[in-house]
Order: sequence, then C-alpha cells, then structure tokens
Amino acid sequence: MNILVVEDEKKVASFIQRGLEEEGFTVEIAVNGEEGSEKAESNHYDLILLDIMLPKKDGLTVLKELRAKEINTPVLCLTAKDSVEDIVAGLDSGSDDYLTKPFAFAELLARVKALVRRGAQDRGAEVFFADLRLDPVTHKVWRGEKEIDLTTKEYGLLEYFMRNPNQVLTRAMIAEHVWDYTFDSFTNIIDVYVNYLRKKVDKDHSKKLIHTIRGVGYVLKED
Ligand code: CA
Repeated sequence: MNILVVEDEKKVASFIQRGLEEEGFTVEIAVNGEEGSEKAESNHYDLILLDIMLPKKDGLTVLKELRAKEINTPVLCLTAKDSVEDIVAGLDSGSDDYLTKPFAFAELLARVKALVRRGAQDRGAEVFFADLRLDPVTHKVWRGEKEIDLTTKEYGLLEYFMRNPNQVLTRAMIAEHVWDYTFDSFTNIIDVYVNYLRKKVDKDHSKKLIHTIRGVGYVLKED
C-alpha cells in the first residue's frame, strides 16, 4: 500500500511517515503543492494525505486539479483550519475525509485504514435498485442509461443506500458504515454528502429515490 503525504511541515510529515511505515505502508512525501500534484499525477497511490495550507499551490487547488484529471485516488485532507466552510470546501473539491490538526496518530491510522480498505473492496456483482445500477468492480453508477459521476465518498454512501434499500439509515449508521467510525460533530458532514448525492442522483428526475426522515436519517425508496 502506497501513500503520498503532501505536507510542508517537516515534523508533521516525518511523524506521519514513521507511524505509517511501522504499520507496513510505503510512504512518499511531497513538501509543497506543486510537488504533490506532480507525484500524484505520475505515480499510483492507494491514498493521498493532503495538507490544505501548502506553499506554491494550496491543497484544495491540488485536489480540484486531480479530480478534474479524473485521478480518483482517495484523499484525506489535513487541515489546521477547522471552520465548517473550509471543510465543506474540501469535501466539495473531492476530498473523501478530513482530519483537523493537531490529531492523534491512532485517529489518522483509523481513517487511513478505512479509506484504503474501501478502495480494496472493489469486487462483487452489480447492485440494482429502481433504475439505479452500481458496479462494485469499476465503481461506476448509472441511473437509467446515464452514468453518474461520483466522488469516492459519494459512491460509498450510495452503495450503502443501495445495499440497504427501504430501510431508514440513521446518521450514526451512515457514519459507522461509510466512514467507519462514530463522530458526534459528523452529522453535518453526512447531510452535506447526502445533498451532493441527491443533486447527482435525483435532481434531474421527477421520481426521487433518496428521502429524508426528519430527525432520524435517510431512506432509499421508490416513493
Ligand atoms: Ca501546511
């Protein structure tokens, strides 16, 4: 498992590198945004840990450019800025998860393992619901004939919905299954993701599939 760490703070970078290498990961470091882009575009990584505040090119720009080039490697953003706006901007740019500095290594490791494991689960038969079709091998999703372009996290969320249709999924269940951990302040992020997913899955269709159960959570159903 190959991980790219884009981080300009030497102490933080070597702390992450040392910890992940002890866990058996191979780690490469890029010390600024430009180097991060170059490495991410020319090598294969299973995961990218991306600092937001970087010299030469900031992390969100790096992320947007990667996604625009259809490089869909899972990205975990590291940020010292913990305001909701920044986090939401990160998610909107195609980040799969984020961690606010300073963080405990155990927490970083849990998220790294969750993202890498999700990437490795890419197998199995196609899943169908209503006119949705999901291919777990290629991570492609269609509604009717039209392919829907999803980020890794949106895909994970939709897959969870499609494997549990007609069941009310609480935010806690979604956090645990899609993000692999529980986190109190996480509920806003889940709502943000469900809204992204809705825009892509339901917006252009009169028949909505993702429904809100007020105060409880969400359900994928036909009416
Ligand atoms: Ca930094």
